[in-house]
Amino acid sequence: MEKDIDITKAARQHLEMDDFFTGGFTTRAKASEPKLQQRDNAASANAAAELEKIADEVSRCRKCDLGSLRTNAVPGEGNPNARILFVGEGPGADEDAQGRPFVGRAGKLLDKIIAACGLKRSDVFIANILKCRPPENRDPRADEIINCFPYLQRQIEIINPEIIVALGAPAARTLLNTNKSIGQLRGQFYEYYAGLGSTPIKLMATYHTAYLLRNYSQENRKRVWEDMKKVLAELGLPIPEH
Ligand code: URA
Repeated sequence: MEKDIDITKAARQHLEMDDFFTGGFTTRAKASEPKLQQRDNAASANAAAELEKIADEVSRCRKCDLGSLRTNAVPGEGNPNARILFVGEGPGADEDAQGRPFVGRAGKLLDKIIAACGLKRSDVFIANILKCRPPENRDPRADEIINCFPYLQRQIEIINPEIIVALGAPAARTLLNTNKSIGQLRGQFYEYYAGLGSTPIKLMATYHTAYLLRNYSQENRKRVWEDMKKVLAELGLPIPEH
């Protein structure tokens, strides 16, 4: 599945994750009202209904073995109108138990990052490449990704975010159809095409928060923050100081 991309386009975790960035961070008041949504209310309600249909399909999906192993499917959640879509790898134990994405330790760190950006979780949409938990949190298998990816593709078409943030290698590789490492991919914008002739969506790849928890160095946190600052700048959103 190797395909070259056209590029014209943490030490350990702190005991508390309160200080994602050096010196701690508190979300500051926004200077002006930033634009966090992109549709009117009727279009937004329609997108929400379409996303609900996908969530319903996902909850009944038996396209692969993971369907019979899950406690809950985890279709994804958030603002159907979001300008930013975060995409992770797949549900872990906490997500499987609750049916919600990024609610465990990696999720708490993602919440910190979102807050550090001056945003709320309800401003963004959060989804995964796989909608069901692989046993023992093993890496997703190619056949599982092939079966599950169409759900995410449809979600992307409906949400039509301005920027996709791919968290970690499986998300970045799947969305960009490449085998490059996350170290090579992170930090720059790529283009994701939802369909033939569709306007490309900008994609930023960065480290997965689970990786960040395992490698919680100043350097890695700085890299993620640099990536997120690029995302905020691209959207014309204020970049909070920390
Ligand atoms: N890791 C992921 O990739 N997704 C989740 O939802 C939780 C942890």
